[in-house]
Amino acid sequence: MSRFLGYRCSLCQREYLESQVQYTCPKDGGNLDVALDVDHIRKFVSPGQIFAQAEPSIWRYLPLLPVDDPGFEGTPLHRVGWTPTFETPRLAEELGLKTLWVKDESRNPTASFKDRASAVVVTRAREIKAEVVVTASTGNAGAALAGMAAAIGQKAVIFAPRTAPPAKVAQLLVFGAQVILVDGNYDSAFDLTIQAAREFGWYCRNTGYNPFTAEGKKTAAFEIWEWWEKTRRQHPQFSRLNVFVSVGDGNIISGLHKGFKDLLALGWIEQMPRIFGVQSTGSAAIYNAFQAGTEQITPVIANTLADSISVDLPRDGVRAVRAARETGGRYLAVEDEKILEAIASLGKVGIFAEPAGATSYAGLVQAVQAGWIGEEDAVVVLNTGSGLKDIKAAMQAVPQAPVIEPTLSALTKHLYG
Ligand SMILES: *Cc1c(COP(=O)(O)O)cnc(C)c1O
Ligand SMILES: [Zn+2]
Repeated sequence: MSRFLGYRCSLCQREYLESQVQYTCPKDGGNLDVALDVDHIRKFVSPGQIFAQAEPSIWRYLPLLPVDDPGFEGTPLHRVGWTPTFETPRLAEELGLKTLWVKDESRNPTASFKDRASAVVVTRAREIKAEVVVTASTGNAGAALAGMAAAIGQKAVIFAPRTAPPAKVAQLLVFGAQVILVDGNYDSAFDLTIQAAREFGWYCRNTGYNPFTAEGKKTAAFEIWEWWEKTRRQHPQFSRLNVFVSVGDGNIISGLHKGFKDLLALGWIEQMPRIFGVQSTGSAAIYNAFQAGTEQITPVIANTLADSISVDLPRDGVRAVRAARETGGRYLAVEDEKILEAIASLGKVGIFAEPAGATSYAGLVQAVQAGWIGEEDAVVVLNTGSGLKDIKAAMQAVPQAPVIEPTLSALTKHLYG
């Protein structure tokens, strides 16, 4: 495939051919960026061609992806991505902004952003004829891999912490993956997965380890680009877009950054959006590094109710720091209590987010309070996962419902005292 040139290490800049490496840099363990043949793409594809397609999924960006057409039209693999971006005027007003948009990733086939990565990884797995794909997961990456694998009849093995929310574990099992819960945290599942992949010859999807996950995740940047090209005409007052996203391992934010970098290299955008990363104060290793002005990621002992972003040692931390720094964005850290408030706020405009999904919005609230975002700024916030994934947290975000006798008098008493 001529447009896929190989890999470049994000730390030492060494270049590798496709056949030389599979996961991270053999010299320093750095995350590998997939290198595309930009000149080739520019010659054969135009933005207009991409915009004109009917394909309602990430596969509309096939010319910019390092895999071939996977086929399987008519399966959930072809409903990944192309998620809606909602206008939320009431939230905008509450924050003193002119407009606000929320891109709702909960509408992916397995209800989280992770489907983008898993769709591309299972496609890659078929190309290299891998029999089994394995991943460590706090829940969503596993559900996404299990779901995409089920859609195309691929074998998947998932390692998750035994404390993962039951809805996520249910998804893994229903999709028919081999599920193994570890008596430990996400980080311990991660390390075990890499050992197991080596031992048994499985193809490893681990986030921030397999270079194809970021390639899948970059499709969200392409969708934001397409959407903004259309939307900005109605909003000539805005110059630059600001994107808010929650961060755990740092692979989503790195993928978004890669997508915008691809577009810039192609000459299809003139300016990068600013990218803002939001972490929980209980799991803030990347935020800490950003604040300290370093790319050195020091592990923390993660403790947050936002399980999808609960990570001791982020596996894509260096590129994640750069995503904010190189675009003029920032990192924010928000308390779990603010994350619960954000679930309630998004709920009131019809968007049901899990804690990690709402964390980005909590970050925006803080950025507005700090004066970093104001009226003149165009903002899109990503909701990365569905509230149905973790109803225990959802119930903590709102008051309990009263229970009454099923009579009109009891109701009247309840309503009017
Ligand atoms: C995985 C995940 C994130 C964070 O993505 P990273 O690549 O780990 O930074 C955020 N929200 C949800 C719902 C997720 O599942
Ligand atoms: Zn390297």
